[in-house]
Amino acid sequence: MRKLKICVLPGDGIGPEIMEEAIRVMRAVEKKTRRFQAELKEAPVGGASIDRYGVPLRDDVLELAKSSDAVLLGAVGGPRWEGLDYSVRPERALLALRKELGLFANLRPARIYTPLIDASTLKREVIEGVDIMVVRELTGGIYFGTPRGIESLPDGTQRGVNTLVYTTTEVERIARVAFEVARKRRKKVTSVDKANVLEATELWRRVVTEVSREYPDVELVHMYVDNCAMQVIRDPRQFDVIVTTNMFGDIISDEVSMLTGSIGMLPSASLGDNRRAMYEPIHGSAPDIAGRGVANPLAMILSVAMMLRHSFGLDEDARMIENAVEKTLASGYRTPDIYSPGTTKVGTKEMADRVIENL
Ligand code: NAD
Repeated sequence: MRKLKICVLPGDGIGPEIMEEAIRVMRAVEKKTRRFQAELKEAPVGGASIDRYGVPLRDDVLELAKSSDAVLLGAVGGPRWEGLDYSVRPERALLALRKELGLFANLRPARIYTPLIDASTLKREVIEGVDIMVVRELTGGIYFGTPRGIESLPDGTQRGVNTLVYTTTEVERIARVAFEVARKRRKKVTSVDKANVLEATELWRRVVTEVSREYPDVELVHMYVDNCAMQVIRDPRQFDVIVTTNMFGDIISDEVSMLTGSIGMLPSASLGDNRRAMYEPIHGSAPDIAGRGVANPLAMILSVAMMLRHSFGLDEDARMIENAVEKTLASGYRTPDIYSPGTTKVGTKEMADRVIENL
């Protein structure tokens, strides 16, 4: 039986509530399939760590994350810590984890669950069957390039500068992630750039094309980002895997996630070198509903499924969770965020109970 060393960081707000339920689901799968044994080590991060230790991420917690096979993160942050200096805010824990673990690839799937189709602001006939994976480069590009800053000019005005920079190596490794992911899906990669205007993305396009030669079984399409922004709304079913730069990915992944209309449903993965990886819902700590037992645990539960698939190759176990979520929704169970008349309203714990029953 496979031993999985998992670092569990519940964080703040609804983080601990949804984490507890996601772990319960994972334990139920473990018991059922007997294909793995999860060894969990839990630690505080974000506001929870600030309250106890004065810092959002302790060195030993970072070491724990580094020495684990995968990290599961709930969410961090909340109004209690908003007055603090940026250097010790809860969100610093996230940035530090991404940086220190070298997590350069952010995977955000957006899948439409048929029973939730009316939660989207788009028409049923446009979004039915949508299943897109956005692969965003996470540690390079214009968010990190230098020179950067705001400088004063002799005439008394100012000049703001950021630099879009990508190296061959950075593009190669993110392209490989995208092609590998596509191989496990519908075998199509759309690479999104602005190669008609930006030289850095002209290089991006060239390198992605080069890498694609290693994956003759995967179709590659290039698309300019402005066209992509339109196509995602016009005909989202044409996409399987979208791979793009840090900034374009930031924007396109939010646009794609909103096709589904429900933030409490969407998981994500951040992958790095040496098979390091962190899995978390795309939503935040939802302080407005924390402690009331009403948070939707499905994004966290689906993050566990992503972890089993991408870190451990346990495809069947991942699919078991995803199918159970689908079945639970089809049976009409809804947390308040996805509730509509005619369905059955349940809380965080009961939603997880129903998923476990449906495994
Ligand atoms: P949020 O995602 O926490 O909440 C936005 C809205 O969606 C809220 O109304 C919330 O109740 C709802 N919501 C989110 N997740 C839900 C769930 N699982 N079930 C039901 N409803 C859900 O974003 P925000 O309000 O802008 O931020 C709140 C705090 O979270 C801030 O401190 C922010 O910095 C932090 N944050 C953390 C992360 C992270 O940890 N990755 C991401 C985004 C925001």
